[in-house]
Amino acid sequence: MTRQNALTPNGHVRARHAKPATTRSTSTSAEVGEVHANRYPKHEDPTKGQVYNGVCNTTACVGRRAVWLNRGTFGLYCTTCARGQNRYNEVPICILVDRKPTIAEMDAHHHAMMADMSALRKARHEQTTEPHFSNS
Ligand SMILES: [Zn+2]
Repeated sequence: MTRQNALTPNGHVRARHAKPATTRSTSTSAEVGEVHANRYPKHEDPTKGQVYNGVCNTTACVGRRAVWLNRGTFGLYCTTCARGQNRYNEVPICILVDRKPTIAEMDAHHHAMMADMSALRKARHEQTTEPHFSNS
């Protein structure tokens, strides 16, 4: 019943596989870097929108050079998409980054955006209520 003896005993197949790992496509996971759990959308291709200078996160976009971080979706976007997203928002949602941010950095960017948005809302509210105070 011990048929293993007839075959190669100590799995040299495995040892050979381990060697050329550096020349294989393992660089992809390094380029993706840290991926935020709350990223949106969760593309089937794990590199889409997650590699700095790679493919844009917009589903219908195949643009490259994704160097803009969307502080809401935690994906990277091409300049065209990023500008489109920022156009209708006074507080920019997309910011230009010089590398793939870490998850901690993405969270910090997200909080900064939320703070800017609430500050803007507050400033607007104070502006509209101000005349009431000076009207006495
Ligand atoms: Zn795009």
